[in-house]
Amino acid sequence: MDWMKELYSEVVLTYSKDSRYRGKIEDAIKGYDMNESCGDEVTLYVKMEDDKVKDATFEGQGCIVSMASAAILVKLIKGKTVKEVKDILDNVRKMAKGEDFDEELLGDLVVFSNISDIPQRSKCFLLAWSILERLYGKMAEQEKH
Ligand SMILES: [Zn+2]
Repeated sequence: MDWMKELYSEVVLTYSKDSRYRGKIEDAIKGYDMNESCGDEVTLYVKMEDDKVKDATFEGQGCIVSMASAAILVKLIKGKTVKEVKDILDNVRKMAKGEDFDEELLGDLVVFSNISDIPQRSKCFLLAWSILERLYGKMAEQEKH
């Protein structure tokens, strides 16, 4: 099946193992969540400066889909403004529902464009993104200071 090929593509494998997106940031906004059905765990760190994401990393363990999705998230939001992060989040939600979305905004995340066909894997894919959604309020708050 096509989605199988896509999910375990070279791109996904590479991101899932890439250590550049991993680590801990002291003094950052952070959030944790887990996906019980698969055992995936992610802690996301987002460091804001002015209205931009100055740095972001994640720590965690789990399946290839959850780890690659978290790594691409970190890559995508670095250097972005709060508003741009919101646009990315909105488009990730659309993609996860199988709706039309802005491919340019999501970069390499489009390797998961068929994720809505696989509900079980959608949870893995969305784990890091749902943490980011929860952190978003705090990120936007810092913008005003
Ligand atoms: Zn998983």
